[in-house]
Amino acid sequence: MWRFFRRRMVMCRQLVELLSDYVDGELPPALRRRLEAHLADCAPCATFLQTFRQTQAAARSLHCEEMPPELRQRLRRFLREQLRNPPPEAQG
Ligand SMILES: [Zn+2]
Repeated sequence: MWRFFRRRMVMCRQLVELLSDYVDGELPPALRRRLEAHLADCAPCATFLQTFRQTQAAARSLHCEEMPPELRQRLRRFLREQLRNPPPEAQG
């Protein structure tokens, strides 16, 4: 039980690391499928993905070709903090 929970937490952390590649469509198909399976089963991670996509869309609307590296870093830090303390609406 505990071991399963730990594995899941590792997956959540990996997901945060892989999120930008996933959104850019740069993940290998096998990894992509694992990630999508996790997203289907993990509400907090699904919320993070949504937040990430919204941030990227906002960056595009500001006519940024790519998300600036600094913004990426800041977003990753934000996501990690969210992972540690999920907002109440992400827990249901
Ligand atoms: Zn997760």
